[in-house]
Parts: sequence; C-alpha cells; structure tokens
Amino acid sequence: MKPNRFQYIAPETIPEALQLLNLYQSDAKIISGGQSLMPMLNYRVIQPKYLIDIGRLLELDAIAKQDGVIEIGAITRYVTIENSEVVQQFLPLLPEVIRHIAHLTIRNRGTIGGSLSHADPASEMPMLMRLLDATFEISSENETLMIPANDFFLGPLRTALKDHQLLTKILIPIPDANMGWAFEEFARRSGDYALAAVGVTVEVKQAAGKNLIHQCRVAMMGVGDTPLRLSQIESLFNGHEYSSELVAQAQEQIFQDLDPRPDLQSSAVFKKHLASHIFTKVMHQAWGRALSFNTRKTLS
Ligand SMILES: Cc1cc2nc3c(=O)[nH]c(=O)nc-3n(C[C@H](O)[C@H](O)[C@H](O)COP(=O)(O)OP(=O)(O)OC[C@H]3O[C@@H](n4cnc5c(N)ncnc54)[C@H](O)[C@@H]3O)c2cc1C
Repeated sequence: MKPNRFQYIAPETIPEALQLLNLYQSDAKIISGGQSLMPMLNYRVIQPKYLIDIGRLLELDAIAKQDGVIEIGAITRYVTIENSEVVQQFLPLLPEVIRHIAHLTIRNRGTIGGSLSHADPASEMPMLMRLLDATFEISSENETLMIPANDFFLGPLRTALKDHQLLTKILIPIPDANMGWAFEEFARRSGDYALAAVGVTVEVKQAAGKNLIHQCRVAMMGVGDTPLRLSQIESLFNGHEYSSELVAQAQEQIFQDLDPRPDLQSSAVFKKHLASHIFTKVMHQAWGRALSFNTRKTLS
C-alpha cells in the first residue's frame, strides 16, 4: 500500500519544529529515521495531514559527556551510538545492546529518539533506558521538561509525550567504572524482534572481607506492556552476597510475578520460563564481571 496524501515539512531549527507541532497538534506526525513510521504510513495505520521531518535539526545529532552524564541527541542513529568512542568507554552496555537491534540497514537509519517515542514493548532501547535510569528532555514551544524513563512508558506504543512535544535529548548517568553488566535476549532468528530480553547491572562493595552486592538493577522487555524494572528482585540482592540459592529464589519469584500477554509466537507461560531462565544467566554474567573489575581495582 501507499500512504495517504500528506504535506511534508522539514524545519531547519528546533524552535521552528516546535512551532509547527504546536500549530498542527494531532494533525502532524514527526518522522525521524522512518523505520517504524514508514510502515505505519504505508499500511495507513496513521494518516497525518502533515509530516514533520526532524532530520535537519543537527544539534540533536550529537553525543556529549558532561557532569556525570552522557547526553545523546534524539536524532542520533543507532550506528553512530554503537561506534561512538565516548559511549564505548563510559556506557559499554549500550553498543552491546544495539547490536541486537534489527539489521545493519535499519540501525543505519533508526534513531534512539524514534525508538523511545515509538515505545514498542519489544524494543531494546526503552528497556535499556529504564535499566540505566535515564532521563528524557522533552521540549515544546513553551517549556522544557525532564521526564525519568521510569515515568515515560505508559503502554504498548504509548508514552508521556503529547502531540505538541518533541523528545530532544536522552541523558544517561555514567555508571561506576567497576559496575558489572550483562544483557541477553532470545529471538527466533537473528535480527527479529526478541521474544524476551533481560539486562542486569551489579555494583559490588567490600565489607568485613566480603563482596556484597551494593546496587543491583534488573530490567526486562517483551514480558509486559512496557519495559519493566524489577525493583523487588533488586532488593532481594542489595546488601547481600551473591549465591546460587539467592539467584534460584529470584528466578522463582520472577516466574510468579511476570504476567506477559501471549502472542502469535509464544504463550504467556513460555515467556515466563524464558525470561526467568535468561535472568539467571545474565545475573551470573553481571556478577562475574563486577567481581573481576573489583579484583583488578584491588590489585592495582
Ligand atoms: C524489519 C524491522 C525490524 C526491526 N527490529 C527491531 C528490533 O529488533 N528492535 C528494535 O528496538 N526495533 C526494531 N525495529 C524498529 C527500529 O528500531 C526503528 O528504527 C525504531 O523503532 C524507530 O526509530 P526511527 O528513528 O526510525 O523512528 P520513526 O520511525 O521515524 O518514528 C517512530 C515514532 O516515533 C515518533 N518520533 C520519532 N522521533 C521523535 C522525537 N524525537 N520526538 C517525538 N516523537 C518522535 C514518530 O512520530 C513515530 O511515531 C525494526 C524495524 C524494522 C522495519
């Protein structure tokens, strides 16, 4: 199919884009990389009167490190983030996860802001932003808001963004260099959307000669209407030594707590098994990494 008729507008500045969004409200749709929007236009799932292309807002195509955060402009493409030396040095989990998204051709065009605004519950970036406690800068003609990733995702393809607002920046706190991390997903074929995925970060603290988990973060995707943060599982680990008994207890609780919707590819029970099993593997990897980073620090 072909899209319905629309007027294409490509503003050159952010204020111009915000003015257009304010003027046209729900008659307008933003296009960034077009990797999710174009299929929706072609199938006429959406039929906007105005298509506002933000690809010329080059100040939103930038990655910068400042004051303990990495700032990523909303139109920065996956491939740019994956190859950024700053990101590789301070947020190595980010390029690792991006490699799981679709195929190179899609990563060449798709943008981080597009993925977050689209809010597909099976997308990697929304989950990762919840895991890393990111904050989003949301701009409109009259104000700029900072919204934590935890409050941004409201449901499948639904976010806190209003028609007149533009996601402009993503701010990710730089984690401790000794933080352990791991991510894994299960997809039927390489490049497909994953059925389920899990990300874990672990920070270790030494107390009374023991290695204790100081801060553990757990996030999942594909098993809820939004990406999930599992705070109850995190508190099981925080302040404790890592043990296989604790991991087994967490695995059991995850299986009980998750309530995924069945879909054409898998039943709810299958997804619960998948996510809880991936969790044990990822938790083990993140813990191992944190220990090796901390042992290296102690020896040096
Ligand atoms: C075959 C295929 C496989 C894919 N596999 C995966 C996968 O495995 N994992 C994954 O995560 N994704 C996958 N995708 C989706 C891909 O990652 C998209 O690039 C991404 O979802 C949207 O980014 P985009 O820049 O292309 O946004 P667009 O398609 O341009 O826009 C998406 C939506 O976000 C809105 N929008 C865009 N930018 C902004 C902004 N700055 N502020 C406010 N609203 C905005 C648009 O209006 C639109 O509603 C796949 C896509 C295809 C076609």
